[in-house]
Amino acid sequence: MMADCIFCKIAGKEIPSTVVYEDETVLAFKDLEPQAPVHVLVIPKKHVESVAALKAEDKELAAHILVDVIPQIARELGVAESGFRVVANTGDEGGQTVKHLHFHLLGGRSLQWPPG
Ligand code: IMP
Repeated sequence: MMADCIFCKIAGKEIPSTVVYEDETVLAFKDLEPQAPVHVLVIPKKHVESVAALKAEDKELAAHILVDVIPQIARELGVAESGFRVVANTGDEGGQTVKHLHFHLLGGRSLQWPPG
């Protein structure tokens, strides 16, 4: 738990969120400013700053998020068949505003490419 980290506070239930998935190591909740009909943030409960800060010891956790959690949420929210996007903005030029690793899961509309 990192002091002054908003997503650590969400993971610790100090700040409320609309939870769509939770287990021992992972929390997923609705984005406060949704950019698509489905817009969920999937975070590790432990503080990792970004994809760039992942360590070898985080392999199982990262794989769990990508292999188990995100596909399950996509199925439950009805976008697995139609398609969806997973985004991890990383660092300042990557557009990361909250410095706690999070995967955006976006879907429910036709998404454009490239990003800005
Ligand atoms: P980033 O810009 O990729 O770091 O994404 C941060 C995301 O967190 C943005 O989409 C924000 O809308 C979202 N966000 C910030 N604070 C909260 C909150 O308290 N609850 C839910 N989502 C949040």
